[in-house]
Amino acid sequence: MHRKYLSENDPKTQLKKYKTQYLSDFLDLYKQRDDCQRKATDFARFCIKPAMEDYINRSLGIDIVEEILTSSHSAQYSSRSFFQYNIQQELLHNEDFDKFDKYIGNYEKYVKDWIYQHILQEMSENESWCKLKNKNLQIIVNKITEAIEQASKGENGVLLPDDTESITELISNMRKYLIKDVSLSTLAKLPIKPQDELFNRVFGCGQLCPFCKVPCEAGGKEHKKHHAALHRPQGLGGYSDLDSSKLVDALCTTDVHSEKTFRNTVTKSQWHPYKEYTTYYPDWHIPPDPTIEASDYWKYVLVKYNDRFAEKYKVKPADVPNAWRRITKEQALKGLREAFNIK
Ligand SMILES: [Zn+2]
Ligand SMILES: [Zn+2]
Repeated sequence: MHRKYLSENDPKTQLKKYKTQYLSDFLDLYKQRDDCQRKATDFARFCIKPAMEDYINRSLGIDIVEEILTSSHSAQYSSRSFFQYNIQQELLHNEDFDKFDKYIGNYEKYVKDWIYQHILQEMSENESWCKLKNKNLQIIVNKITEAIEQASKGENGVLLPDDTESITELISNMRKYLIKDVSLSTLAKLPIKPQDELFNRVFGCGQLCPFCKVPCEAGGKEHKKHHAALHRPQGLGGYSDLDSSKLVDALCTTDVHSEKTFRNTVTKSQWHPYKEYTTYYPDWHIPPDPTIEASDYWKYVLVKYNDRFAEKYKVKPADVPNAWRRITKEQALKGLREAFNIK
């Protein structure tokens, strides 16, 4: 403790700590310069500029969300089903297995990255970024100017003899710097991430079906049970038959109606009836209905990437019905439109 006290109060350490400050003071003294100007510059650079930057960065996230939701592309974000439709249509169009794999296996990240790319594009078009940035910059500049005016007044409202001109000039310089500094690359570092905000607003809970990984379609965050109108062949979510080690092509809605059993890490590898799935997944509602068929979209995807999915999950490809093999890309797209009620 003694040593700590000594080291903290050691004149040499103290001198070292404030070396830069002392040096500037000494230089001012030596050059007989008024140090007010320098102190004002330091104040603007080290206090005002970071505060302005912080304000702008915090406001931009929310502003971008509003901008996207009201822009000409807002239709894409207007409803969850239209959004899902857009993403899945693009996947079909790109014909890239890795993208399908990412979308199914890492759904939330895939969608957030997708939204982020969309925001980047939107922000670089029509000078949207500059407009939002300048708007926020103007708000904070006005606030600071007001505060300076307030601070330079005496009790009776009379202006104090201090010259606020240099501070006003410094702030206008800060503005110029910030216009350059807050560039589009700032988008990746915003404290409120617009892609997360949009995901939450448009997608709701983001939970996936424990069997086929279809995302929950219930509105908003406050719903008692997760549900989806159409489930997918479970092989897409990685389920395989233990005896044949083939990917499963059956839908969750069919299996929860059957006498079949499943097992996974959640059941600690113990067999459990599909019918009683709520024992392990009480938050999900999967209607038992053997008449529901998978959409042509997912049938097409499973046929097209059967080998790739099998390779990924280290099992054998699914035994898909022959009729599935005849589905064309156009029919898959039609199936997608039907699934989301898009005309
Ligand atoms: Zn499912
Ligand atoms: Zn849900």
